[in-house]
Amino acid sequence: MPARVLDGKAVAGQIRAEVGPAVAAFTQRAGRPPGLAIVLVGEDPASEIYVRGKLKSAADEGLRADLHRLPATAAVAELLALVERLNHSDVHDGILVQSPLPAAMGADAERRVFDVIDSRKDVDGFHPINVGRLVQNRAALAACTPSGIIELLERSNVAIAGARAVVIGRSDIVGKPMALLLLHRHATVTICHSRTVDLPGVAAGADILVAAIGRPGFVTRDFVKPGATVVDVGTTQVADRAIVERLFTPGSRRHEVFERRGSIVVGDVHPDVAEVAGALSPVPGGVGPLTIAMLLKNTLVAATLRAGGEQGG
Ligand code: NAP
Repeated sequence: MPARVLDGKAVAGQIRAEVGPAVAAFTQRAGRPPGLAIVLVGEDPASEIYVRGKLKSAADEGLRADLHRLPATAAVAELLALVERLNHSDVHDGILVQSPLPAAMGADAERRVFDVIDSRKDVDGFHPINVGRLVQNRAALAACTPSGIIELLERSNVAIAGARAVVIGRSDIVGKPMALLLLHRHATVTICHSRTVDLPGVAAGADILVAAIGRPGFVTRDFVKPGATVVDVGTTQVADRAIVERLFTPGSRRHEVFERRGSIVVGDVHPDVAEVAGALSPVPGGVGPLTIAMLLKNTLVAATLRAGGEQGG
């Protein structure tokens, strides 16, 4: 029996349907909407698409969302100065600096920028203060993608407490916060990475398997215990026909999209896993929409906190 689909789009819709009225109530109380500032450096095509999606979603739910652009040639100092200005802006409750930053800014640029964002406006949850709070299970602002995955699991009635969870990937933005959020919900968590010995064997012990690697179709059926819940975080734009045809047979819906567009977005989980897993999040339509929904929610939380209200969770 094919795996149950974990419908990220539907769950994101539920979250947004809750955020919208809460934004309206905040706006009425505060006399202004919660405000999100998005900073985009350069013209990376994928980032342009992500940023457009975030701006539109924020506007759809009644938030104020402003785009601040810098050229790809901007110095880190210019970016830091812009973030400082936004830290002092009264109308912006959240600041998001779209990654990746141009390589010319240097390998440590993202970390330097995340360190400078006012932790109360850090709607991405990347500031060391918010990461520390997450470790202590008292985060108001936690990273959007892993928070969205928790919403997806909980709202899809996947039991987390007591489950064996394996997270493949240990990045600061997905893998580590994912592991902590699962741990705080009483899963027994293992984090895997590129040096893990016998990765398929470790993964196959999981009741909940989260793949956040960035390698198309890496997680094959031998990684998955029959009936396990599998969450696919990977989003890689693939234009290489050989990779596409390793994953999708000619004539299939995804292959047709590839033929039409010349590239498709592919997850870390091989499509055959659907024959083994009990539940599986698709790509696209799984984790992506949840990330945006949680960004809107975090902006509302930040606005409420700045206005001196109760934190929204
Ligand atoms: P990242 O910073 O590149 O981290 C990738 C992780 O995967 C690293 O910890 C790395 O291990 C591990 N890894 C790489 N190759 C591996 C291998 N062969 N075996 C085992 N582990 C391996 O990536 P990220 O930012 O966490 O993102 C991961 C994926 O999620 C990407 O496809 C990204 O586009 C996607 N993503 C999607 C969303 C969304 O909203 N849908 C949001 C964020 C990210 P080491 O640490 O040992 O190098």
